[in-house]
Amino acid sequence: MTGFVCPRCGNSSPRYIGYKNGEPYCRRCISFRGTTVEYKPGSPKKVFLNLGYPLSDKQKALSDSVLDNFKNGIDTLVYAVTGSGKTEISYGVIAYAMSQGYNVGFALPRTDVVIELYFRLKDAFPNNRIVAVYGGHNKTLTGDCIILTTHQLYRYPGYFDLLVLDEIDAFPFKGDATLMAFFKKSIRGHYVMMSATPSKEVVDQFKKPGHAMLTLRTRFHRHPIPVPKLIKAPFFLQYFVLLSKLGKFLREKKPVFIFVPTVDLTQSVFAFISKKYPRGNYVSSKREGRQKIIADFKNGKYAYLVTTAVLERGVTVAKLQVIVFRADDEIYDAAALIQIAGRAGRKASDPTGEVLFIASKESEGIKRAQKEISFCNTFL
Ligand SMILES: [Zn+2]
Repeated sequence: MTGFVCPRCGNSSPRYIGYKNGEPYCRRCISFRGTTVEYKPGSPKKVFLNLGYPLSDKQKALSDSVLDNFKNGIDTLVYAVTGSGKTEISYGVIAYAMSQGYNVGFALPRTDVVIELYFRLKDAFPNNRIVAVYGGHNKTLTGDCIILTTHQLYRYPGYFDLLVLDEIDAFPFKGDATLMAFFKKSIRGHYVMMSATPSKEVVDQFKKPGHAMLTLRTRFHRHPIPVPKLIKAPFFLQYFVLLSKLGKFLREKKPVFIFVPTVDLTQSVFAFISKKYPRGNYVSSKREGRQKIIADFKNGKYAYLVTTAVLERGVTVAKLQVIVFRADDEIYDAAALIQIAGRAGRKASDPTGEVLFIASKESEGIKRAQKEISFCNTFL
């Protein structure tokens, strides 16, 4: 009855253990089924890294440290603010590992970001076989470097000599014990974790022997991150505050993201403001054709987008201004608000941008987000 530990996900909790013909089986990871890949040592290969532009001195120093750690068998946490160019920091160790013929993977929680990174890595390593693996796209499972969602890690038990894991604080990876177990099980060698907002548990873990934490608190363009301004307004007035702030940005010809806490609110907020400002649109995970809407926004067809957290990461738009509507909603913890604020001022050509929180009260998340961003800016 007891003592059963799932060989796939490490679960030992009786709550998730079922019995079939008297044999125990794990119910926690039962939805993860499909072809798996067996470890095979590879052979050294030629790698050409095409960065497009040079790393900053800080990025270079960090990139070198990550590589040294890997060579010395140390797992690394890269704690870097959003917009610091932390993805590029991992290219050096990826190049080295590929050249040695190691099995290399780069895992991220969300499919959209996997696809985006796939194209970036293809540009960076034009002579190597970069493969993307995510739900519905898993015919090819091997290559020189595999970019995959954390949901696909179960296919690679004991496989990766080097595994980079980015956005560890993002849904659905954050707090998911099964995905964390698959991550751990898929590592044969060593890993690099990257985060803009790691939890205290993660930071503590990297203080242990065999681990190291590297920090990058400034953006690659060396300008401060906009500190969010809180505008307090009673619930019923918040729509009008939103309208007035949006109007100001639009008159200045600046594109705007309006973040709202729920999918339903994307529609109702858009319905309200589009009466006055029709040149906008809304997106959420439920919105059909959202990639096209986002592309149209980048091309200037729309002046603003109302969005859920779906645009919290990975999108860079010049001159972008950010409004978070109902920023005191409990869905927004400090980590989420920091990510959202990080959308503004990302371009070196236009490093400024305003971030406004509209809320009826100052939540703990708001307070912590403002504090953390101000703190990072003191390192400039
Ligand atoms: Zn299991």
